[in-house]
Amino acid sequence: ATPTALLVGTGRGAQLGVLIKGPEVLESTRKVDTVVLDKTGTVTAGRMTLVSVHVADGVSETEALRLAGALEHASEHPIARAIAAGAADRVGELPTVDDFRNEEGLGVQGIVDGKAVLVGRERLLSQWGVQLDSSLLEAKQAAEQAGRTAVGVAWDGAARAVLVVADTVKPGSPEAVAGLKSLGLKPVLLTGDNADAARAVAAEVGIDDVIAEVLPKDKVDVVARLQAEGRVVAMVGDGVNDAAALARADLGLAMGTGTDVAIEASDLTLVRGDLRAAVDAIRLSRRTLGTIK
Ligand code: ADP
Ligand code: MG
Repeated sequence: ATPTALLVGTGRGAQLGVLIKGPEVLESTRKVDTVVLDKTGTVTAGRMTLVSVHVADGVSETEALRLAGALEHASEHPIARAIAAGAADRVGELPTVDDFRNEEGLGVQGIVDGKAVLVGRERLLSQWGVQLDSSLLEAKQAAEQAGRTAVGVAWDGAARAVLVVADTVKPGSPEAVAGLKSLGLKPVLLTGDNADAARAVAAEVGIDDVIAEVLPKDKVDVVARLQAEGRVVAMVGDGVNDAAALARADLGLAMGTGTDVAIEASDLTLVRGDLRAAVDAIRLSRRTLGTIK
């Protein structure tokens, strides 16, 4: 590859809304055969809204929203923002939190109104020895089968509520997935979210391979495993929790709308956060390098 052709390629990339870290990146782009896509914030908008609240017997919905909303107000996670905003809309001003702790990929915990409160995955609740009762479990499963994300709320040693948030697939995502497939690439959806919600999103955009319930620290291992199988892997992500996987991948692509950490770890940035630009970038690199071989 001549340096001039590569530079022309990177210039063309900028016009397509793709920032390329260096001309040499185009070379690895061309060899990619598998594209791992983070779900939340990459395939979906990552702008979730609180859609329903389910409480255990004798629990007030207002109290559940007050406590969970206060706790989530301290977190930046898309689920947290949805819960904090939905709670503030419904119950007004939220109390302050002490001893806040974020459990990466699991949920949040802290002290609100003198109570030890927990919001997150069932796995986090069970780490505290707390179980959802049958009615909460039913609400959670129904929501997940509909492609939504449900989190549990616990305080004073018992599960008290399930909060359901919904995200939407970005308008360009189905077209982008179709484009990746037409280039002969295999798309894989990767998420920390539950398998039902992940499969519902995958079906909506046309992805067959789903790897769900992966902890943030384990996303990098998924990429490494695919590489060990002989695949040349591109990873597309937006979050802090995607950074290690983006760096490990043969080609890392960050959403320009995502976190700085993800952008720094990547080779390419999709400036407008539109997945279709990933297809353009791969097509461009093939064309650029194809003509100069
Ligand atoms: P993704 O891989 O889709 O970007 P994460 O790894 O960030 O998702 O989160 C995985 C799961 O952990 C979420 O689907 C949710 O169940 C739980 N979770 C993470 N952060 C929070 C939070 N702040 N509040 C409630 N639940 C959370
Ligand atoms: Mg994400």
